[in-house]
Order: sequence, then C-alpha cells, then structure tokens
Amino acid sequence: MIETKPDISLSQYAEEIRLGKVVAFPTETVYGLGADAWNADAVARIFELKGRPPDNPLIVHVNSIDMAGTLAADISEDAHRLMERFWPGPLALILPKRPEVLDIVTAGLPTVAIRMPDHPIPLRLIEEAGPIAAPSANTSGRPSPTRAEHVRQDFGSEIPVIEGGSCQYGLESTVLDLSIRPYTILRPGHITQSELEQELRQPVRLISTHSIKLTGMSGDTPRSPGMKYTHYAPDARVRWMRPDELPSPDPTTHGTLYLLHRIRPEDAPLPKTDNLIHYRENYTEMGRDLYDRFRMADLNRYSEIAIEPFSDSDEAVEALLNRIRKAIGD
Ligand code: AMP
Ligand code: MG
Repeated sequence: MIETKPDISLSQYAEEIRLGKVVAFPTETVYGLGADAWNADAVARIFELKGRPPDNPLIVHVNSIDMAGTLAADISEDAHRLMERFWPGPLALILPKRPEVLDIVTAGLPTVAIRMPDHPIPLRLIEEAGPIAAPSANTSGRPSPTRAEHVRQDFGSEIPVIEGGSCQYGLESTVLDLSIRPYTILRPGHITQSELEQELRQPVRLISTHSIKLTGMSGDTPRSPGMKYTHYAPDARVRWMRPDELPSPDPTTHGTLYLLHRIRPEDAPLPKTDNLIHYRENYTEMGRDLYDRFRMADLNRYSEIAIEPFSDSDEAVEALLNRIRKAIGD
C-alpha cells in the first residue's frame, strides 16, 4: 500500500498521463489502467490494450467533489450526500454527464461513472493530471489485478505499473446508478445496499447477477454494459463444491483447488494440503484474496477451482458471491 519511491517519480507518471500515455496504478479496490479522461486518443489506447469492447464504459477517477462537478451535469443533493459520506472510497456513482465528457469514455451513454479512490497514489496523479479514466488493469475477461505483478502478467512491460503492494479490498467498487429510480446498484462492492439506504433514507435496488438486462431509457440495452460480459474468470473451471464432496490432498496432479470458508467442528478437521485454502469465515480476507487465487490456480495449472457454497444471502458476502457467480458463468 505504501509508495516507496520519492514524489518525483509520481510526478513523472503524472506527466506521462498528461502527455497522453496509459499508466497502471494501485487503488484500494484493484489496480487501474488510467489515461487522461479528456484525451480521446489516450482513452482509446486503454480499450485497445485491454481488448475491451467499445460499448463498455469507463469509470472516471477524481480527487474532489468539485472535480466530479466538471464531469457530471448536476450533482444532486443525494449524490452530494453520498460523496461526503463515502468518498474517498469504493463507490462509483453514475450521474448525467456534461456534454463535453468524451463519448469514448461513456460508450455513448448520457451518463458518466465517477469515483474518488481512497489511495494516495491515484489521488496524487489526479491532482497533477486531472480526471483519469480507468478500468481495471487486466486484459478483458481476466480476473482484475490486485497486485502489480498481476498487471505485468497481462501486459508484460508494455505499460508502466506503479508498485503499490496488495490492494486493500481486492474487489471492484460498488457501482450505484443515480440516474434512475429507484437508485440501483449495478455492481455490488464493499459499500453495501444497507449502508447506501441508510445514508439516502430510501430503498436502493440491487440488480441480481441473473437479471442484468433492464428496461431503461434506451430500450432494453443493459443498464451497465460491462455486466453482460463474462468477467473475472481464470482458465481453470470455477464451480461450486458439491454437498457431499470432501477435499482430498492432491500433491501430484494439481487437479482441484478448494476454497472453503465455513468453520468446522473440532472433531472434523480439514486435511492439511496445499490445494485447500480455508478462510474461517473471514470474508474480507477471502474477497481480498479471490483474484490472486484465481491467477495462482492458472499459474500452478489447476484444472478447476471448487468453492464452498454460501448458505445465506448475508450482505457481507454479496460482492464476493457476485464475482464468484460471474467466474462460474452462473
Ligand atoms: P471496470 O472496468 O472494472 O472499472 O468496470 C466499470 C463498470 O462500470 C463496468 O461494469 C461498466 O459497465 C460500468 N459503468 C461505467 N460507466 C457506466 C455508465 N455510464 N452507466 C452504467 N454503467 C457504467
Ligand atoms: Mg474490469
């Protein structure tokens, strides 16, 4: 999390961004691949590098509510309240855009997604280079990067990566659409539905992973275009563990990697084996770890990842469950 290089190098990265280059940097959620949000060619380069479909818009990163006001046509009272309460933090807000916001950033939508990251490195880059459009720094379809090394796995030395250690949350931000009623969570994240409802004092809708197509202003185009794509999937097949399935040690074949989370009774200990990770109901750690495990599974050539199902729809696991379902293709 701590930037070890002197400030001067961060200024150089900011200069690169000002010159229209693409730079990868850590945030509290995942690593981002950023470019000057006002430079269409630089933003186009992000799409090209990632192989990202052009109808999947980017989140613009800012360092203040004032800067959000240079992108959004209007910051409503509710938007302002959420920004005051949750920014900097893992909450992207979708608001009507100003006409000058580039179409390539919003994929032609009349709205723009904006967030203020809670991390000194991007905040400093934004201070020097202005608003930065940045999706996750992975090639399209791969799990989001939560360490600098993950970015290099996908892009090699093609783009500069600012080292920032492991990301605090390891899952992407909550995306809340404030341009429709009821306000709708398009992507669950660390900031939960009930936290948002409490702050807004009104019900907030949560789109289920299964119903990504909504009737919106533009017919039945998906509300959050990114959500129609399979995401976050490693090459190994991800599946739920069967109820009667017992993880077995697998030292030779590297067949199945097991991710378990329920605490076992003392008289039913789990086998101690490298292909079994047990989170003991620490869902924060499991969330932080998930994409790293996905990538490690591929590097170690596991053919599948079996994840213990969650018994209830506890809000604390909403974001995690959403990412696992996407990886499964459920
Ligand atoms: P990522 O590429 O991981 O940063 O994801 C950004 C997410 O925000 C994607 O699911 C996008 O589809 C979504 N998003 C960005 N801008 C908008 C917007 N204006 N309206 C709806 N969803 C958006
Ligand atoms: Mg992404």
